[in-house]
Amino acid sequence: MNREEAILRELNLYPLWQQRAQTKPVYDQEAAAAQPIIEQETSQSVMEKAGLQKLASCNWPELKTLVKNCTACKLRAGCTQTVFGMGDVQADWLFVGEWPDADEDVQGEPFVGQSGKLLDNMLAAIKLKRGHNVYITNIVKCYPPGNRMPEANEIAQCMPYLERQIQLIQPKLIVALGETAAFLLGYDAALPDLRGKLHDYRGSPSSGLVKDIPLIITYHPTDLLHTPLNKAKAWDDLCLAVATMQRLV
Ligand code: SF4
Repeated sequence: MNREEAILRELNLYPLWQQRAQTKPVYDQEAAAAQPIIEQETSQSVMEKAGLQKLASCNWPELKTLVKNCTACKLRAGCTQTVFGMGDVQADWLFVGEWPDADEDVQGEPFVGQSGKLLDNMLAAIKLKRGHNVYITNIVKCYPPGNRMPEANEIAQCMPYLERQIQLIQPKLIVALGETAAFLLGYDAALPDLRGKLHDYRGSPSSGLVKDIPLIITYHPTDLLHTPLNKAKAWDDLCLAVATMQRLV
């Protein structure tokens, strides 16, 4: 079996890895529906704490320092360190996950451990490699206690940092991994309703983006470890991403 066949076999058929110890909690749809996902007030508060002008005009080293020193929400008190992101800062491809898991919290890098191995295989299947024309980060930069799902206000607090990352990278395409990453669209919806189609990332009014960025949503690698049957759908989404990128370049 050649390498590509092995990758496709891994993506579509064979659950080679074990489920991680901590499972993702069920998202409280009723609570989420009770308030807007991106609240201007909380989003504004992190901007104020970081310094509105400072965040809007900072470079990569300054942004990393702002995130490292951030205490805008309660997640920072319970994590080991912030997980900023890694990769090519001029990448065409931006992959955005949900929140750092326990392994990422310890190592300080996104997508390590079993989910990281699967993401690397997903990238390899579409002839990409971590760090080469690819940047990887999460919506939320701090590990939530017990690996719980971040609250809507915590996501909103952290979003300005991701917006600045996007503004600096200016990727041609964003691939959002997991339902929480769909918060990039500014609203909440179930993953099956979001995947398999092309969306536009517009950013908030303060994001400074001059044009929309195409965005595709697919399963988070951790979800694929839990439900290997969805690997075939994830492969379809990756093919859509490749076809979209080919049109963009
Ligand atoms: Fe700051 Fe984001 Fe960490 Fe909250 S999750 S403390 S907003 S870096």
